[in-house]
Amino acid sequence: MISANFAAAVDAPTRARWCRLVQERRATEQRRQAAFERMALCYPTLPCAVCGQPIGTDESNILGFNCIDIPERDFQHFADGLAHISCLSSWDRRDEFMEAWNRALGEYYAGKRLYRGAAGRVTYTDSATWVIQRSPAVQRRQAEQWAQLNAELRRRKEDLASRMQAARDKAVHLGIASEDDVDGVLHDLSAEEFRLHFGEFRVSRAFFKGAA
Ligand SMILES: [Zn+2]
Repeated sequence: MISANFAAAVDAPTRARWCRLVQERRATEQRRQAAFERMALCYPTLPCAVCGQPIGTDESNILGFNCIDIPERDFQHFADGLAHISCLSSWDRRDEFMEAWNRALGEYYAGKRLYRGAAGRVTYTDSATWVIQRSPAVQRRQAEQWAQLNAELRRRKEDLASRMQAARDKAVHLGIASEDDVDGVLHDLSAEEFRLHFGEFRVSRAFFKGAA
């Protein structure tokens, strides 16, 4: 739309060029918008988790679901899926589903849950209140790291125990101690003597204190 003031101020060729520019810009904007919507919806042909029909392109009627573990088999296909809000809101298993889903979702998020808003429309709580809590993936990784650490610790303990035993065996073999007093004898050796005869075992004299 060209205002009367603009029409009066410029000549016809300028007006025409300006109109073309506006049209081009509008077309670019529309293409951009369309691309954005395609991106946001990804796959309009994906099935609604409730009715099984293609989810379509009406974003205001689509609810997405996190990829979470949920024990109820009937609801597992919602994970990483989509549903029509209209289908979910009028579903006869709606309340059962929402309870189960919110329980499972609580393991991942604090504050994020499904609720029934105006006119029974199912939607999520305000995203500003969502806090990622913990995820099974994170827990699994921590458990793996913990197990690795424990295995390493166990390995080192066993290694140390075997080196200490080798030092005891050598002390008994050298005849400077008996099986019964070997720990005390090793502990009481001078640093120099200990290093000379038992340095190869890479253990400290202090380890033998109270070990007997
Ligand atoms: Zn549906």
